[in-house]
Amino acid sequence: MAAPECDVITSHSNIPDALYPGTEASLSSLDDQEIFLEGAATRCKEQGVSLTTIRRLVLGLLYRHPSGLKAYDLLALVRQERSNATPPTVYRALDFLTGQGLAHKIGRGNVFVACRHASHRLPGLFLLCPSCGGISELYADAALQALLQALESSGHRLDSPEVEISAVCPACVALASP
Ligand SMILES: [Zn+2]
Ligand SMILES: [Zn+2]
Repeated sequence: MAAPECDVITSHSNIPDALYPGTEASLSSLDDQEIFLEGAATRCKEQGVSLTTIRRLVLGLLYRHPSGLKAYDLLALVRQERSNATPPTVYRALDFLTGQGLAHKIGRGNVFVACRHASHRLPGLFLLCPSCGGISELYADAALQALLQALESSGHRLDSPEVEISAVCPACVALASP
């Protein structure tokens, strides 16, 4: 699936509505999550790996928290469903999900978010709002391509598949304007 040139999906809006304009009334949020998780399971299968129960549980929780979750908060939520879950269990699941590009680790807040993009040819570009702490993934392939080329020609290489930018989100911009 080709990504739109510049499609902002913010943590302030209902994600599926943004992805599928016009269909908002026909899908309940639980259906959306199931569709998302089934898509992730298919991607895993294509890679010869499997979205196990714990991995699916963790990814589902990230999906339900568009602004991301810290590992510690994630563990608490996982334990509500699997009381015997240990930190290594959750960390291994997170390692798997980030390794497969199904989730992203946003460094500054050490927050994990579900990836809502069909694939990553390019790194993920994340906008972190300094006012509300919201995280959005910005899909701007042309900008990323140019950034990668500029890095390469200056002899640099990205050290993670996530690029983070501090940017005030539209909701906070609206609040701040008179
Ligand atoms: Zn992503
Ligand atoms: Zn904000």
